[in-house]
Amino acid sequence: MSTQLADQIRRLIEVDGPISVAAYMAHCLGDPQHGYYATRDPFGPAGDFVTAPEVSQMFGEIVGAWLVHAWDLAGAPSPVCLVELGPGRGTLMADILRVAARHPDLAAALSVHLVETSPVLRAKQASTLAGQGYRADWHGCFAEVSAGPLLLVANEFFDALPIRQFVRVGGRWRERVVGLDGAGRLVFGLGPGLVDHGADAEEGAIMEVSPAGEALAADIAGRILAEGGAALIIDYGYTRGGLGATLQAVRSHAFADPLADPGDADLTAHVDFAALAASAAKAGAAVHGPITQGEFLVPLGLVERAGRLGGAADEVTREAIRAAVERLAGPEQMGKLFKVLAITRPGVTPPPFGPKI
Ligand code: SAH
Repeated sequence: MSTQLADQIRRLIEVDGPISVAAYMAHCLGDPQHGYYATRDPFGPAGDFVTAPEVSQMFGEIVGAWLVHAWDLAGAPSPVCLVELGPGRGTLMADILRVAARHPDLAAALSVHLVETSPVLRAKQASTLAGQGYRADWHGCFAEVSAGPLLLVANEFFDALPIRQFVRVGGRWRERVVGLDGAGRLVFGLGPGLVDHGADAEEGAIMEVSPAGEALAADIAGRILAEGGAALIIDYGYTRGGLGATLQAVRSHAFADPLADPGDADLTAHVDFAALAASAAKAGAAVHGPITQGEFLVPLGLVERAGRLGGAADEVTREAIRAAVERLAGPEQMGKLFKVLAITRPGVTPPPFGPKI
């Protein structure tokens, strides 16, 4: 509770009263001065967490190959906006562009769009993508991306969008809020408003909803429906909506208290893929999956790609490649917890979605 952001949030609560969990998340992650992403590059062994594109280039290469195929299935629209939401260090986009360069028609048709709020990470992305031969445009939100058909990817982006939590108390749902205790420490509490969400549950149960995530899924779906293209959403989360609190803070590769040190720990929630899928489907798009990251990467050639990469390499490198395959697709690692959801126009089913052959 010693961060500058903690003082700022405390003052806000003293003046306005307790804030929703969503507002708390938005402050912690997005505050332009002290927010988590605004102030650092959190990735890698020395940072707080490691994402799939940072584990191995194989991840981005397979995502790139999927996007090339999805573009073909969409009728090879030209021009097309290649969009990434929350590109981190720019590693995934760099790997995708290397694959796209082998498809001259697509390479000539695409323009690069990065949706990123953090100035630190925008600078990092610019340096990663320098020399790739594309001009990149940065946007503060998806709605700002210029019109036209879309090839969109979002890896570990939706988990950073603010969620609201509701607690079942006395047969009603009440919003969970962040307030102050007698000593001025941030604590969870219950909002005064009784919000009826319909669903029944046991006393004390917690329900999470992500209005921002659902709205964004609907926007992406609407855009694809109107202008064509495809989207791939990858994140940790659950396939079927359910109850339970998944809000979590991670700092230096370990779980932390979400209310301690606001702005200095990553704050995320597991993604409710059922809700995203329902939202995109309601907008009229075709929704594929979610399937697990392992079910996505392995049929698309992860093991074969690893074999080719390791073929001419020394034993140490080969072992590192084997470990990366396990990390990305192994059921105990990212292979099962991470899910992949695709959105297209109705009438196309890009592999490996759809019936198994
Ligand atoms: N996709 C990357 C990084 C994931 S971390 C990877 O896989 O390595 C989340 C990314 O989303 C960061 O780049 C962060 O700055 C960005 N981000 C988080 N919330 C955002 C928001 N509301 N709008 C735009 N970018 C956001």
